[in-house]
Parts: sequence; C-alpha cells; structure tokens
Amino acid sequence: MKHYDYLIVGLGLAGVAFCEQLQKSNRSFVVFEDGSQHSSKVAAGIYNPTVLKRFTAAWRGPELMTKSIPMYREIEDKLQIQIDSQLSIWRKLNNVSDQNNWLVASDQPGLESFLESAIVHGSNTSVNAPFGFGVVNQTGTIDTHQLVLAYAYDLKNKNLLMETSFVYEDIVQEEVCIKYQSIRCKQIVFCEGYGVKKNPFFKYLPLKGNKGELLVIEAPNLNVDVILKAGVFVIPLGDDYYKVGATYNPVDKDSIPSSKAKEDLLDKLQKLIRTDFKVVSHVAGVRPTVVDRKPLVGQHPKHERLFILNGLGSRGVLIAPFVAQSLFENIENQTALAPEIDIHRFLDAALLS
Ligand SMILES: Cc1cc2nc3c(=O)[nH]c(=O)nc-3n(C[C@H](O)[C@H](O)[C@H](O)COP(=O)(O)OP(=O)(O)OC[C@H]3O[C@@H](n4cnc5c(N)ncnc54)[C@H](O)[C@@H]3O)c2cc1C
Repeated sequence: MKHYDYLIVGLGLAGVAFCEQLQKSNRSFVVFEDGSQHSSKVAAGIYNPTVLKRFTAAWRGPELMTKSIPMYREIEDKLQIQIDSQLSIWRKLNNVSDQNNWLVASDQPGLESFLESAIVHGSNTSVNAPFGFGVVNQTGTIDTHQLVLAYAYDLKNKNLLMETSFVYEDIVQEEVCIKYQSIRCKQIVFCEGYGVKKNPFFKYLPLKGNKGELLVIEAPNLNVDVILKAGVFVIPLGDDYYKVGATYNPVDKDSIPSSKAKEDLLDKLQKLIRTDFKVVSHVAGVRPTVVDRKPLVGQHPKHERLFILNGLGSRGVLIAPFVAQSLFENIENQTALAPEIDIHRFLDAALLS
C-alpha cells in the first residue's frame, strides 16, 4: 500500500496548478491522467484581464493577473522551459462608435493601466482595419500544451504520474482515509475538465461544456508581432506561423476537428487579413464552462474527502492558479472559499442527485 496526502485526477491546467500548490507546501501526491480531454492541450493560452467584446474588466481580471501569472514564471524556472510570451492585444475597432466606446473604456478606473487611450493605425497593408485598433497591454499567452507536457514529464520522472483512467467505482471511503486500489490517501481532488461528466460524485454540477477549435496557419507575408483580435484571435508563434481561433459551440462535446468550424474560422480570418496563407493544423477541445460562468471549487456535500477543481471556462490560464490556491487553503487551513466559486451554491442540485 502506498500512502499519499492527495490523489489528483486530471493533469490539465487545474491539475497542474493544484500540484504546484502541493509541491510548494511539501504535500505528497499522485496524479492519474488518461488523455481523454484536450482543452489545456489545445488552448490558445491567452491571458487578458479585460472582456474585448464589451470593453470591460473580466471577472476578477486585474486581481488574477497579479495572483496567477507568477505561477507560470515559477514553473518556467523550475522546469527550464519557456511558456510565457508577453504580447499586446490589438483589438480591431469596427466603426466610429467602437472608437468612442474604446476611448471611454480606456479612462475607466481599473482598466486604464491595461487599455491604451490612443487609437492605433498600423501601417501593415496585410491587415484590414480602417478604423484602427485599441491596444491592451500586460497581456500575452502561456503555451499550455508545452506546460502540461513538461509538467507530466517531470511528474513521471518522480514516479508521481499514473497514465491511466481513474476508476470511480474503486474508491473505498474509510473513516481516516480513502482506499483506491493499492493507494491510501487523505483526500482526492478531481480536476477532470469536461471529463467530470463521467464522475458519479460530481456530475450533478451544472457544467455545460463548450467545444472550441483552432487552426495554425503559415502566412509568410503577414508580419504581425502582436495578438490581433477581430472576429478571431491571430496569435504570432514565430517563423511565420500563427494560431487562429477560436470557435464556440455549446452543442458538440467531442474533441474532433470539424469542417464547419474550419470554414467559420477561415471566413473570419479572411475579413481581417489580406495575404496568402496555408492551414497547417487544426485542433479541438471542450472548455469546462459552467451555467453561471464561475469556477466549480470545493468539498463534496456528502463525501468529506472528495473535492473538485473545475469550471475554468474560457479563461483557465488566469483562473487556475487562483482557484488552486483557494482550494488548498480551504482544505488545509479551513479558509473560506469565495462564495461565487464554492460549489455549495449548487447545494440544492446535490441534494436532489
Ligand atoms: C480551442 C480552445 C481555446 C482556448 N483558449 C484559451 C485561452 O486563450 N485562454 C485561456 O485562459 N483559456 C483558453 N481555453 C480554455 C482552457 O483550455 C480551459 O479553461 C482549461 O484548459 C481547462 O483546464 P482543466 O484542467 O480544467 O481541464 P482539461 O484541460 O480538460 O484537463 C482535464 C484533464 O483530466 C483528464 N481526465 C479526465 N477524466 C479523467 C479520468 N477519469 N482519469 C484520468 N484522467 C482524466 C483529461 O485527460 C485532461 O487531461 C481554450 C479552450 C479551447 C478548447
């Protein structure tokens, strides 16, 4: 029998962020990961504290920038990888009214340090933006694919990773611990993303799921070194490669790239850029979105050793480190969770399940 403080199910952004908390606090743990969900592997990885559709702050946006981004920089140092690319976002303004709204927003307290007040007219003739751009600073991308691969590799070398599916039926809840196959642990933290739909303990929670797809293109004459945002994001990857995404589809729940999404992305891309390109890859995954657009964090209402860290939605990069720390402090020090992330807000659904 092996003994651990924690057993973690899932090594996407949520699992990585929780493992970081555990490693920092010298808690023992083992992770189960079966490759069944792809969200963190395909994400564009943008971090941006604002909502570019409405020119407002995102939920806890500026606060999460301070609390969450340092975790990725610590992982870069620890694993000797480069995953953080600091890039401004240039939001295409579509008309005069957009320009006026941008000027008003850039003056708002809390946003003024991110939104530049001057409207920018780039000189790049490959980009179609007659009304110019609003520029968002302190933004960028985390290479989430490289992050989860490097993190898994490191855990594997430390014998802390089981590359297999977690079998829910094998949980035996005892008074002082949980028995799972040949493992004993004090608590289990489920970080399964959309995979939680198969979890008999937490599937009652209103996680909806939203399929997203992304293309990688090669565009030798585009010459863009910021993130462009119009109907789609165009993110420079270097060597004339760009990520283009993403789609939002609340109906399909598989991770298979579709021709419909590809057409949709190409249609929006062609309205933004005027240069030749070719598509080199196409990926898909399901975002773990929640009805009230807030994370799902906390202790199972009936099983005190079972916890969930999920519901990162479309902003996993900024949210994961913050919710991982909140959950860790809740379990270890009984620090209350913020009510808007605590799964106790869905207690009625739990009692009916
Ligand atoms: C196309 C696309 C673009 C996106 N762009 C951005 C972006 O620009 N910025 C941003 O912040 N967010 C973005 N997101 C959202 C982001 O990807 C998610 O918020 C985040 O990755 C979710 O992380 P997670 O760990 O909760 O879930 P996941 O990444 O789905 O990880 C869950 C893990 O659990 C494993 N698992 C599940 N069940 C089991 C089981 N029974 N046994 C073992 N393992 C199991 C899965 O294999 C998976 O690895 C995007 C998502 C998509 C799809």
